[in-house]
Amino acid sequence: MHKIVPQPGILKIDLYKGGASSVEGVSDVVKLSSNENPFGPGDTAVNAYKRAGHALHRYPSSDHLSLRTALAKAHDLDADRIICGSGSDEIIGFLCQAYAGRGTDVIYTEHGFAMYKIAAQAAGARPVSVPEKNRVVDVDAILKAANSKTRLVFIANPANPTGTMVSDKELARLAANLPDHVLLVLDGAYAEYVEGFDGSAKLVTRRENVVMTRTFSKMYGLGGLRVGWGYGPAHVIDVLNRVRAPFNLAEPQLATAEAAIADTAHVEKCLRENIRMRTWLTGALRDMGLGVDDSHANFVLARFTSAETADRCNEHLKSAGLIVRQVANYGLPNALRISVGDEPSCRRVAHAIGLFLGKIKEPGA
Ligand SMILES: *Cc1c(COP(=O)(O)O)cnc(C)c1O
Repeated sequence: MHKIVPQPGILKIDLYKGGASSVEGVSDVVKLSSNENPFGPGDTAVNAYKRAGHALHRYPSSDHLSLRTALAKAHDLDADRIICGSGSDEIIGFLCQAYAGRGTDVIYTEHGFAMYKIAAQAAGARPVSVPEKNRVVDVDAILKAANSKTRLVFIANPANPTGTMVSDKELARLAANLPDHVLLVLDGAYAEYVEGFDGSAKLVTRRENVVMTRTFSKMYGLGGLRVGWGYGPAHVIDVLNRVRAPFNLAEPQLATAEAAIADTAHVEKCLRENIRMRTWLTGALRDMGLGVDDSHANFVLARFTSAETADRCNEHLKSAGLIVRQVANYGLPNALRISVGDEPSCRRVAHAIGLFLGKIKEPGA
């Protein structure tokens, strides 16, 4: 037996489970398990990716100036206060590595995104889950839980897997009332899906204790590219840059993300379609008697009468080639999270759930 052991707690980390992408024995599957953009990236982005291939002998930019400048311009922010990472997951990791550690606590909420807990544990910190109120982040519960050991508070807004939101006003109240040594992290992975929402960028601009993370993985249809970014106070961005590897992003990543920002028509089309099909899917599922909160993102959470029914429905969907996400590990055993796909996918999944629940009869059955 060897004596090589990792730091305490590392072996307690549960591996992140991504959305499944195949079903054994079914060839024609529809993947609605990872909140991917059903339209994929726009042509402008794909062309930039191809072009970047010709310069792969060159090391990439290490300061990401061009992408940061494009982001700053698009969102009306200060480029010096932006950091880019390999997905926003990497920024979440930087934050935990730099600010949390042994003997400290990292707060997230009851149904919060799995990476917060994993990144906290990887840094040696204690992950602390705080209750939500009817699947909505509860600012008062967070304020009650924050103490001298707390270093970070993670909130996704809109949240995953619930799709719910908290108001900017509530977040401002949280930022103003947290202990002085606590950094509030607002994860805006789905911010682009909310019309007129800046991901609380203005709150970040005006405070020294709030950071926002964003991604190209959802609305921009670039989950496979791995590009995310963070915007925060200068002192925080300086700290994060010290733990960031100099070449954490390859040139094709940087160039593709920058091109994607410029293709506003693609984003607008995806936004419209998501709203249209999310409204339709929410209505269809509610008509079948399922509990569905208003979602502000590109997925809906369908609540069944029991965990057993949700499990059986999931199996039924799988056999029909429809892959959705079970969310028992998010404290929601009676629910299934369904990404908003294109129209045929949404119709297929609603039809299959209708058959399962006996709300629709198969012709001739
Ligand atoms: C999908 C998602 C992300 C994005 O992660 P990337 O590493 O940027 O792909 C971040 N936060 C939440 C809550 C998500 O659902």
